[in-house]
Amino acid sequence: MRRSSLCLSWGLSSGLSLVLSFGLLTACEEAPGPPGVLILTIDTWRADHLSAELTPNLHKLASTGLQFHNAWTPIGLTTAAHASLFTGLLPPEHGLRGNNHHGYRLAETHQTLAEQVKAQGWATGAFVSSYPAGPEGGLHQGFDTSSAPESGERPTAETLGLAQAWLGAQTGPWLLWAHVNDPHGPYAPDAADLAAVGGGEDDKARYRGEVHQADRLLGSLIAEAQARGALIIVTADHGELHAEERCGWQHERSSSPVVLRVPLVIAGPGVPQGRRDGMVGLTDIAHTALTWAKLPPLTGSSALDLLAGDDPSRSFWAAESGLCDPECTPGCDPAGFLGKDRVVYANEGGLYVVRPGFGEYGEGELAAGLENYGLPLAPVESPDADQARALGYQDP
Ligand SMILES: [Zn+2]
Repeated sequence: MRRSSLCLSWGLSSGLSLVLSFGLLTACEEAPGPPGVLILTIDTWRADHLSAELTPNLHKLASTGLQFHNAWTPIGLTTAAHASLFTGLLPPEHGLRGNNHHGYRLAETHQTLAEQVKAQGWATGAFVSSYPAGPEGGLHQGFDTSSAPESGERPTAETLGLAQAWLGAQTGPWLLWAHVNDPHGPYAPDAADLAAVGGGEDDKARYRGEVHQADRLLGSLIAEAQARGALIIVTADHGELHAEERCGWQHERSSSPVVLRVPLVIAGPGVPQGRRDGMVGLTDIAHTALTWAKLPPLTGSSALDLLAGDDPSRSFWAAESGLCDPECTPGCDPAGFLGKDRVVYANEGGLYVVRPGFGEYGEGELAAGLENYGLPLAPVESPDADQARALGYQDP
């Protein structure tokens, strides 16, 4: 494979042009071909399930780049969370407060990462494993090639086989999104994956087996992307409650940090090695990929470049539960998607509750959940409440 010593810039107006970019020379000098970006989302993958034992391929990938230990999703629902990833916008801004099967679809007026790179002549492919990640929610906007099951989910091997075949056919710059659904319930890992994480019959063991399975199946695609010198970004749309709080095993009806914190790994040419502890989120991913590729940013997003500086960080993260369930959250209004928990997690001070009455619910349980992540429970009143209100996360 051709190895370029310069930074290649691909544009529609000038066709293929060679541009010496001193700023990106370090990033580009190791790239073996035209630029590529691989985005992997592992559905329902918890932030505390990235390790040498559970995810050997991703652990190894993380050792070559950056692992973010304080990364967040704005909502525990697949379609809405991915909409934030691809637009750089929060749910009140892009309008998705639920999944596609709840009737939500991203408006075409919103600009996406795929549209932005496509406008610069990049090939774009989306290969997903579940219906909520499919095109019906508008998530495939800007992807020339789009592949999803018509309902439910499909085997990860099938999705990744299609994705890898597509990648193998690319000779110019490319953006590939692959979504896998293994850790999403029901948990039914292959026997070998279950054995690899110590076996067991309970839900926790089988969930761990599913995480290992996703990692194993992703190994080949990651290796191919690495061989092509791609930027690789791996994350989750949300985590999963393992009965740490009431409402048992689920992610849709919770604003717990167990659900809203996600793993995030970025690796590739020019990406430094190390860990990052600053507060970041899914809304930063599109901007980071575009900045790495030297392409124009998305409009309307206030995202961070996750590869800039020593430790990029936000002062707070605003989020919401996916659905309202009064059994899980006393006081939430089951009448609509807007009547649900909204919370602000502050970087320095722990949890700030936005929704009045939320504090009645399991404050001790929340404190325990936060403690698992080294976050203290903070006073309810947040200095960022005005900002949260402006973002639509607080009732007027
Ligand atoms: Zn999901």
